[in-house]
Amino acid sequence: MSGSVGPEERSRKLAEALLKGWKMLPETCPVCGSPLFETPGGEVVCAVCGTKVILVSSEEEVRVEEQRLVLERIMRDLIRHLDRILHEAGEELSDDDISRINSLLEAIEKASSIYRSLSRQERRRKLS
Ligand SMILES: [Zn+2]
Repeated sequence: MSGSVGPEERSRKLAEALLKGWKMLPETCPVCGSPLFETPGGEVVCAVCGTKVILVSSEEEVRVEEQRLVLERIMRDLIRHLDRILHEAGEELSDDDISRINSLLEAIEKASSIYRSLSRQERRRKLS
């Protein structure tokens, strides 16, 4: 991708797509973040940068979304737990507190790396 498209150029391209009768979709381009369009031929394309996108099947999308929601909940719980330990510990952390904090941090790190890889997978699948 060579350089970014200016805001005027972007608006012009979006307007052109609409005038051509392309349907604006709620999904956005994985490359430039502009709204995607469905052409009369059934192709999904970014009107601004021209990236062609294959939208994932809804079943797959739902599965990834569910995993992501579960991970979000796990991370929230872990962080809440961490917060509680820190509050209960007061000024001085015991060795036990520290080892509990460390294992929580490890768990948070694992959860967020899975979370990130889910986003990457989806992104890879979306790019044609
Ligand atoms: Zn784009």
